[in-house]
Amino acid sequence: MKTILVTGGTRGIGLAIARMFQQRGDRVCVTYSKDEGSAMLAKAEGLEVFHADVSKEKDVVSLIKQIGQVDVLVNNAGVSLIKQIQDVTMEEYRHLMDVNMGGAFLCTREVVKGMIDRQSGLIVNISSIWGEVGGSCESVYSASKAALIGFTKALSKELGWSGIRVNCISPGVIDTPMNAHFSEEELACLQEEIPMGRMGTGEDVAKAVLFLDENSYITGIDLPVNGGFAQ
Ligand code: NAP
Repeated sequence: MKTILVTGGTRGIGLAIARMFQQRGDRVCVTYSKDEGSAMLAKAEGLEVFHADVSKEKDVVSLIKQIGQVDVLVNNAGVSLIKQIQDVTMEEYRHLMDVNMGGAFLCTREVVKGMIDRQSGLIVNISSIWGEVGGSCESVYSASKAALIGFTKALSKELGWSGIRVNCISPGVIDTPMNAHFSEEELACLQEEIPMGRMGTGEDVAKAVLFLDENSYITGIDLPVNGGFAQ
């Protein structure tokens, strides 16, 4: 039985990942920062739920102290921002970078110490198709996700010698609360652009995380899970 930490695992993609590891019999810890309703539901499913804002250093340090050994870290917590660049405030820029990239940095830094001692571990960063190809009106989000891809590749080289694998997954359009703002018309248009003819599900992404956990020679990759969208 491994200990899995999925940041932002109380809903959406993170919850699907958490459930898949739970079904495998692992100890699964998830974090959230605001949405108490989803946190309560996740707790009712038997997940270990922690209130920890991944952008705050003291929250992350205390989180990892409480959990102890982490065998698999999934840096999934993320926020989006759809705005033209001229309208993005410095506050919005900082918040997005602090959560999407800063959170992955802090969680990784804190779990990696134990992983190095044990000479074993897996880190999976949830990037995005927009980190690979750039999304119009999502420049700051795209930049934060591109940063995660660079972070993944660099760390895989730094930590491979310590038996630690680091990979990332770049989902396309996935049916989660993050996309709840799209109208039915917008979703239909988006779907028309996806060769597989549908949005992805959290389970599609979760299966990719499990695949990475089960293949001990894969490190430093960016695995697209996008139904063929924008390749
Ligand atoms: P979601 O439904 O909005 O869920 C996001 C999760 O992250 C929630 O549990 C949320 O809980 C948590 N979170 C947000 N800010 C946090 C913070 N500062 N500290 C701790 N937890 C925080 O989003 P999703 O669609 O599942 O997205 C999950 C990841 O996949 C994100 O990194 C996203 O960028 C990426 N992604 C999504 C899609 C897509 O189409 N949905 C595509 C590509 C990539 P609280 O609100 O309680 O904090």
